[in-house]
Amino acid sequence: MTALLETKGIWQRFGGLVANSDVSISVGRGEIVGLIGPNGAGKSTLFNLIAGVYTPTQGSIIFDGEDVTGLSAAERCERGVGRTFQVVKSFETMTVIDNVIVGALIRTTVMREARRKAHEVLEFCGLAGRANTLASQLIPSEKRRLEVARALATEPKLLLLDEVLTGLTPIEAQTGVELVRKVRATGVTVLMVEHVMEIVMPLVDRAIVLDLGKVLVEGKPSEVVRDPKVITAYLGD
Ligand code: ADP
Ligand code: MG
Repeated sequence: MTALLETKGIWQRFGGLVANSDVSISVGRGEIVGLIGPNGAGKSTLFNLIAGVYTPTQGSIIFDGEDVTGLSAAERCERGVGRTFQVVKSFETMTVIDNVIVGALIRTTVMREARRKAHEVLEFCGLAGRANTLASQLIPSEKRRLEVARALATEPKLLLLDEVLTGLTPIEAQTGVELVRKVRATGVTVLMVEHVMEIVMPLVDRAIVLDLGKVLVEGKPSEVVRDPKVITAYLGD
């Protein structure tokens, strides 16, 4: 079967800076893939290119058999690219349920249906008891789960997770890991950007390591962590 996502020879320049250089990756249907690498490696840039925040300087992005390179972020979301956002200020003044309804309204204009979907997703993410709480009142780990819930409410085929496990306590991170596994069990493909290898490696089927804007290594987590190139990149010499 063809991959769900493919980037083909992606280049992204910001002025004179090359943030992604000739990046070709693929993510198979049903996989959990980790995108890792040191700070400044180009992970967030690639993530934003896939989500449609930027259009690449060169190269193309194929999603679910269609070239989406020229499509907006909203158009990609409609096609099934879901992503987490940091909870922005305006959303902080809204309740948890209303935040998730915003996501659900991508699929339906019927408010009752959007509300039903939002409740279902909150239950799935372990936030049912927080539905009527203001987003600003959540603890950091709950905010991360709210971001996941809002993305899931858009009914994605591919869920892009941006460092959702970073900065959590070990117990909170474990809850997050279990949530990602549960998401995949529903048939959603996951591409997750994480800075910290210890968190992602036990979770992912495959890891792609970026360094200096390029794919350095990719493979099974057990192989990747032992790769001398990866060790050197992380030690920064
Ligand atoms: P990572 O997420 O792996 O830490 P980024 O993709 O954020 O790396 O950044 C890669 C490089 O691109 C960095 O040198 C960063 O400063 C630069 N960069 C990222 N976004 C922009 C932007 N919008 N404008 C200019 N430079 C950027
Ligand atoms: Mg980043």
